[in-house]
This record gives sequence, C-alpha cells and structure tokens, in this order.
Amino acid sequence: VADQQAPAITVDGSRLVDRLEALAEIGAIEGHDGSRGSSRLALTDDDRRGRDLVVAWMHDLGLDVQVDVLGNVVATRAGREPGLAPVMTGSHIDTVRSGGRFDGNLGVLAGLEVVETLDRLGLTTLRPLAVAFFTNEEGARFAPDMMGSLVYAGGLAVEEALGTVGIDGVTVGSELARIGYQGPHPCPGPAPHAFVELHIEQGPVLEQEGATIGVVTGVQGISWQEITVTGESNHAGTTPLALRHDAAQAAAEIVTFLRRLATELGGHQVATVGRLELHPNLVNVVAGKAVLTVDLRNTDEAALQGAEHRLEELLEAVAEREGVVISTRRLARFEPVAFDERIIDLVEAAATGQGHPSLRLPSGAGHDAQMLARLAPTAMVFVPSHRGISHNPAEHTEGEHVEAGANVLLEVLLRLADHEEVPEP
Ligand SMILES: [Zn+2]
Repeated sequence: VADQQAPAITVDGSRLVDRLEALAEIGAIEGHDGSRGSSRLALTDDDRRGRDLVVAWMHDLGLDVQVDVLGNVVATRAGREPGLAPVMTGSHIDTVRSGGRFDGNLGVLAGLEVVETLDRLGLTTLRPLAVAFFTNEEGARFAPDMMGSLVYAGGLAVEEALGTVGIDGVTVGSELARIGYQGPHPCPGPAPHAFVELHIEQGPVLEQEGATIGVVTGVQGISWQEITVTGESNHAGTTPLALRHDAAQAAAEIVTFLRRLATELGGHQVATVGRLELHPNLVNVVAGKAVLTVDLRNTDEAALQGAEHRLEELLEAVAEREGVVISTRRLARFEPVAFDERIIDLVEAAATGQGHPSLRLPSGAGHDAQMLARLAPTAMVFVPSHRGISHNPAEHTEGEHVEAGANVLLEVLLRLADHEEVPEP
C-alpha cells in the first residue's frame, strides 16, 4: 500500500473528533469562558475511566492490548511478517488539573483511527502497528513528567518510579494497583522499529504562519536553575549607593542580561526569569536577598551550554560589582533531542503530498516521543493550537486540522510499516 498515491487512503475525521469528544467527557470541566476541558490527573479515578474507555476501543478494534508494570498500555495490530518489531504511535491521556481536550489524547486516538481505517480497507502492513499511551506524561501529580515513557525507554528504574510520592502523599505504585492498571508486562519495554507521535503544537507558531502541519525536528533542551543573591538589607535613605550590597539590583541585572543574551545568541535560544522574590520586600529597605529562577532553552546542546556559561560569567561579575554572594542550584536539565532525519523527511513529504502547508519547527514542550527517541528512530507531527493556548479548557484545534494531522500520521505509519528499513521519502 505504501506507494499508492494519496489521498487514496484517508481517515474518517469526524469519527476521530467524536472519539476526542467522548474521552473529553470523562473528567469534564468548564473553563472561565464557557469552554469545555478535561481534568484527568495521572492514576486518579478519572484517569482510570479514561483508560477504560480507550482500552475498550482498543479491544473493539481487535488489538492485542498489553499493560506493563507501570501502567503503560500498548495495543498491537499484527503485521504480515511474524517476528518484526512494530511501528509504534501514541502519546498520553492524562491531563493537567485544568487541561484541554487535545493534549495527548489526539496522538492516541489518531493512532486508533489509523487502525480503523486500515481495517475498513482490509489492509495489513508488513510490520505490526502499535498504538500506545504512556503513564503520567504531564507530571502534574507525580514528578518527573514523561514518567511512563522514560521508564519504558530505560531512563529511570521502574522501582523508583513506582515509589514516587505524589502531591497528595500517595505513591505511583499504590495508585496503579488501586485503579487496576499495574499490568504483567515488563517495563522497560521492547524497542519499536520506529515511533511517530501526533500532538498539538501548544504554541502559536503554526497558526501565525498559516501552516497546517508542523514537521517537528526535535525537542528543545531545558536548563533550570534557582539563583540566590545574598546582599545586605539596609536603610533606603541613609545608605550611600557605593556602600550598598543590593540584591534587587543584582537580580535586575541578571534579568536584563538574559533577554540580551537570548537576543544576541538568536536561533532557538530563549531565556526566562519566571519567579523573582525579594526579601524583606519593603518599600524603604535595600533588598538583602533575592531568589529567582532561570529557564534556558535551546535546540542545540553546545549553544545551551554556551548560554549557561555566559550566565555563570555574568553572575561572577555582578557578585563582584555589587558586593553580594550569588549561589545557584540546578532544578532540571534535559539535553535537546534531535529527531530522525529520515522520518522528519517522511512527515514533510506526506504533508506536501496531501496539499497541506507545513513548517519545520522544534518542540518547546516535552513529549513522550523524546523518550522513545532513545530506543528507535522517532519523529513528531504537530497540528495548530488556536491562539497557542494549551493546558487550559480553552485549548482548541480545528476539526480539519485534526483530520489533516491524522492523515499525515497515517501515511507516515504506512510508509514505515511497509518497509524493512526506514525508507527515504
Ligand atoms: Zn502532551
């Protein structure tokens, strides 16, 4: 089927939208503007009900459903050739507390739509096709995020994940057992032949650029630090400027430096101070202490390290100039992930062949695909998020974009599943 011309094989977009709506009704919440979202924190009763619905659909489609010890669910459709590793797609169905209807869900349900489309046409691929959803992608109840896919890919010991205590004091292991999703299959799991994830962009770029399909080249690396500046609180009227050890002044220098640095470095570098606290935080007292966070992101590891180094130099200079002590604490560090060039090309070729304007871009958010990239050639497909809104009940992707994304996913999965090796476009 791989070399037939599109659009000979297309998904049923309205059936996919119907499934998205049905899943969204589980843990449904209303946004301030009357929009409808979902709240299914990982391993809660609502997550269980969402899982039950998706697993029921998997069984309806005749898939071989396997649940591993961390509650990751992999549903497989057999291929023509026994013994070949499957081509896998999927995402997650847990949400943040005030989540939308598309984040994660789209990638899983589009995978089921691909399966149903092939069933309808009586097509069997050379390799098996697998549709997966991974436990606790959001990390809103249990840290770290992307936990299920991280353990699946061997990046975190399963015992450690199971022992993780959530914000409400219970563990991943006890909640998995309670909701009946601690399965018998081992985790880490078997490496697929390739992995492709369809996801909403969660940013405004595609809509702004008038692109329907985002060809995702990789995931940005993330560097989080907490910086503590210790100076000396003193009288705002009587302390001469030259004798001050002003933590607020030092913090302000760090904030403005970071914007300059990101602008100067260009490319995909961004820098954010999202939290800034002054002590004692009074109108007539020179701040004795400042605590701020720095979020640096780049798609290029060397450039990200360069930005970290430039910040380090700045901190030394500021400490010297202002007579303050500056200490740093690492909060998180993830290296950038580059997706597989061949699959990136396949995604782009499918979008072009189907007449969709596309755009290459990196992901600014983390996704299960970046963990699967440790195991197999991997890439992602993005569709536009209206006004870039996500993690919000107002999160929205147009039905025609949902359908376009699923059709691109379908074509890429078919190309991958009908070849022994990852093909050139
Ligand atoms: Zn997501």
